[in-house]
Amino acid sequence: MAPSGSRSIKRSCQTVLYWIPVLFINLIVAWSYYAYVVQLCIVVYLLAYHVIFILFTWAYWQTIFTKPMNPLKEFHLSHSDKEMLEREDRGESQQEVLRRMAKDLPIYTRTMSGAIRFCDRCQLVKPDRCHHCSVCDKCILKMDHHCPWVNNCVGFSNYKFFMLFLAYSLLYCLFITATDLQYFIKFWTNGLPDTQAKFHIMFLFFAASMFSVSLASLFVYHCWLVFKNRSTLEAVRAPAFRHGADKNGFSLGLSKNFRQVFGDEMRYWLLPVFSSTRVLKTLQASTRRRVTWDNLRRLNTRGCSFQGKLQRFDGEPMFH
Ligand SMILES: [Zn+2]
Ligand SMILES: [Zn+2]
Repeated sequence: MAPSGSRSIKRSCQTVLYWIPVLFINLIVAWSYYAYVVQLCIVVYLLAYHVIFILFTWAYWQTIFTKPMNPLKEFHLSHSDKEMLEREDRGESQQEVLRRMAKDLPIYTRTMSGAIRFCDRCQLVKPDRCHHCSVCDKCILKMDHHCPWVNNCVGFSNYKFFMLFLAYSLLYCLFITATDLQYFIKFWTNGLPDTQAKFHIMFLFFAASMFSVSLASLFVYHCWLVFKNRSTLEAVRAPAFRHGADKNGFSLGLSKNFRQVFGDEMRYWLLPVFSSTRVLKTLQASTRRRVTWDNLRRLNTRGCSFQGKLQRFDGEPMFH
């Protein structure tokens, strides 16, 4: 068989495999709905249950199907840049070429050795907080991690949805655990009629309480990351700036850190709709205006960038 044929079969198999965890979660959610609404069916709780269920599935859907954002075209190498880079065979000469290319881009992070961050695979200068995902095979803006449970990269475009997914799934599990508790106790004290429903009630309680524990720890961890303005990758390894590694390099204070993810308008905070519009506009504007390190330094700031300290100037005429 031709190598390209076997490659495409391998890719198709991988695509199917990557959807298995999502299918697994969906089956559990569908069963939990059946067990709670049809088998347990506590009428007084059904309205609240459905409100939580809709918010949870909406946030989950948004996390799965929101495409991760890739770097703007300004970060990609032009044809002549690529040729120039190919001509240089030594590391230092290549870095010189990259430095020249990157000088007009709003980039403040470096590799640990102080070099310009470059993605060989996508042929681009990596914006700050951007990382190449080996599963998606793309560079993802403010990449947090690749999540197998949503078969998607969690990053700038869907981090708020991911947070709400964690929050609403935790609320969903806690709600089921709390309202199912009295029937769970009756199950062990033989207070339930001997029907098929009693087993659904028991397993529902076990599943909901177990998921509550794991979701709570994940949710608390990500709340901490949001308030510190760190991604999971940055929590593992501090980003390196010109002045060296700085784990708080992107932090703007609790309130601004929170607003970078959830947006400025409070009415959208609890809804899984994209609301970091100001951050996105600042990113695009700063790239188009060719914000440079020297410009930033003139304004007496520490070098930070995309979704970082650049935000201080949002709404003001930054550079002329
Ligand atoms: Zn890449
Ligand atoms: Zn990915």
